[in-house]
Amino acid sequence: MQCPCGSGQTYHDCCQPLVEQQQLATSPEALMRSRYSAFCLANTDYLVATHHPDFRSADLALGLKQDQTQWHRLQVIFSCSSQDEQTGIVEFKAYYREGEGLGILHERSNFVKQDGRWYYTDGEFSPASLKRNSACPCGSGKKLKQCCGKA
Ligand SMILES: [Zn+2]
Ligand SMILES: [Zn+2]
Repeated sequence: MQCPCGSGQTYHDCCQPLVEQQQLATSPEALMRSRYSAFCLANTDYLVATHHPDFRSADLALGLKQDQTQWHRLQVIFSCSSQDEQTGIVEFKAYYREGEGLGILHERSNFVKQDGRWYYTDGEFSPASLKRNSACPCGSGKKLKQCCGKA
């Protein structure tokens, strides 16, 4: 089975060890991809476990269980993490089936590392595009285009 995250690898070699909680994600992007795969596979346990406890709503698990969204494809637009590897950002578009066509969820998600594990905290929907000349969100002090935004 191809990995739902669209990496081109098999699920076994890609997100499965993370989703089954045998391995920890080594980067915000790896966590984000594995969470997308968990969404596709309706693995609520993993989605709750990787959602930072301070940012979980009381009805998070219930909402995830009731979610009927049929995810189609993931496109990671941008990802970076701070130099101390404690915070990270992943911007993506996730396409889902909507009637005859596709809807798009465009989000810039925030991640933090705590006790050696990356967690999703929150995200901004339909964010304004990052300017290639503005400071990179990883906090390096370099311009985005010279840092994590290199094509
Ligand atoms: Zn994957
Ligand atoms: Zn950067």
